[in-house]
Amino acid sequence: MKLEAVKKLLEGVPKVSLGFFPTPLYRLEKLSKELGVNLYIKRDDFSGKNLFGGNKTRKLEFLIGKALQDGCDYVFTYGATQSNHAMQTIWTAVSHGLKPVVYLAAVVEPDEEDMRSNLLLDHIYGAEVHVVSMQEGESFFQAEERSFQMGAEHVARLEREGHKCYNIPVGGADATGSAGYISGMAEICGQAQEMGLTFDYLYHASGSGGTMAGLVAGKKLLGLDLEIHSITVADVDADYVSTKTQLANEVLAYIGADPLVTEADFMVDEGFYLPGYEQPSAGGTEAIQLMARREGLLLDPVYTGKGFAGLLSDVRTGKIKPGSNVLFLHTGGATALFAEKEILGQLF
Ligand SMILES: *Cc1c(COP(=O)(O)O)cnc(C)c1O
Repeated sequence: MKLEAVKKLLEGVPKVSLGFFPTPLYRLEKLSKELGVNLYIKRDDFSGKNLFGGNKTRKLEFLIGKALQDGCDYVFTYGATQSNHAMQTIWTAVSHGLKPVVYLAAVVEPDEEDMRSNLLLDHIYGAEVHVVSMQEGESFFQAEERSFQMGAEHVARLEREGHKCYNIPVGGADATGSAGYISGMAEICGQAQEMGLTFDYLYHASGSGGTMAGLVAGKKLLGLDLEIHSITVADVDADYVSTKTQLANEVLAYIGADPLVTEADFMVDEGFYLPGYEQPSAGGTEAIQLMARREGLLLDPVYTGKGFAGLLSDVRTGKIKPGSNVLFLHTGGATALFAEKEILGQLF
């Protein structure tokens, strides 16, 4: 399908304008030379409107759009205490007159006396923040499950009082939110056309998988043949690819397109997340230092550092052929540089 036709489809679903788009896409000169590939970066960390953008803002244009169309007055979402998604949901909700409520599972227990990073911003925005501490012997997934339950009870209470609540899943990864990355892929496609470029590879960090599902759906819709490599940042379920295939086809249906995506369209690499979510890795640390010290721009230890570590490794092992056109999608998250020391690691 032609770019204009895809844009037309996207105009048919509810959306609000939240960020500053298109975000910059440009060549990283020093690293290109050093790595022997043509390395470009797409700055979705500059999605606006506060200093701390990221990939969730694109998804939230569609999610907040839907919440307003549904006549909601509250927005609920979930994540870890330092969730970028929760922080972006909060600012985008308040800026449209919606009341944000977040239930955050504490992978890292916050210090109430020394609130940091996204959790600090959540409070400055006046959000209703519920920290769900992990209980003795409980895994993060169990704590998260409990946070969903608490949220659902809260929603039921408010709806009995006559309120209407919009529920956004972890990472905004549903058929509505993922439309943001069909839109993102269309934007990249337009910029590449203007620059006379064809990308061979796109690398990005993947968590909830909503970004990946949207990118892959967009790529298929546009008939592009770039390889999308998704570097996971957490231990993912065995059905990660099958559920994201389903999600990609759901988002295509949401915008009125036919299902096009199969499991073979995903290239998921689980080789870079260890020791675990919100736990720094040696590869991530090296990637952050390299990007900062060569190009002057900042990655984060939880997502983009690990994603870029995956790209670096594939260049060094020759999996990415020398001279290829490679795009790294910067999905944001640099607020983590101001989070708790255990998230940050030893960066210098
Ligand atoms: C959420 C997030 C991701 C992962 O995006 P998903 O759509 O959840 O897979 C990547 N990078 C950053 C900085 C994020 O906040």
